[in-house]
Amino acid sequence: MKIILLGAPNSGKGTLSGNIKDKYNLIQVSTGDLLRAEVVTGSELGKKIHEVQMSGGMVEFQTVLDVMNKFLASVPEDKGLLFDGFPRDLRQAEALSNITKIDAVLLLDVEVEEILKRALGRLTCSLCKSVTNREYVDSDICPKCGGKLETRADDNEETVRKRIKTYFDSTYPLIEYYSKLGLLHKIDAGHTPEYTMEQAIEILSRLK
Ligand SMILES: [Zn+2]
Repeated sequence: MKIILLGAPNSGKGTLSGNIKDKYNLIQVSTGDLLRAEVVTGSELGKKIHEVQMSGGMVEFQTVLDVMNKFLASVPEDKGLLFDGFPRDLRQAEALSNITKIDAVLLLDVEVEEILKRALGRLTCSLCKSVTNREYVDSDICPKCGGKLETRADDNEETVRKRIKTYFDSTYPLIEYYSKLGLLHKIDAGHTPEYTMEQAIEILSRLK
């Protein structure tokens, strides 16, 4: 089972990805982790990546693909994979199609207003760093440790709207692409994490 997760920031993608990974015993694939792992091996490819990262640059498309290819070749064919944060655009999606067969793409569907509400209501504890939401607490005291709850400085409406727009601009072509391939499954992620997971299980159970 090879699955791709698509979802805007604050769509609940992180939670769903953790739940699916645990339930189906999948390897979670993120380009960030793969690049870091390659650097650690000290290979020629790893050295190249390290140099680019140290100079503050973006790792080239082909390098990302090389690392992805190397990783996929090292994983047993029957091992399930969960792609999170990759592919990011159409070019990456097409390249991924050439190196492996994807079984399903799960799209977390949440309305922009709901994403905004979640993002702007997000509170982080200044002491234990746990994250909660104004929806669940009615004071600025952390329910876990009594520390002070704070909003993130960059969580204002303008920046959140920008983040959402960037996401939709880059993801829309992916949605079209996977929809044409008949791989796209929409999940209504505007409610609880449990309901999101329920729908994911329903979709994945029909795959096997
Ligand atoms: Zn706390």
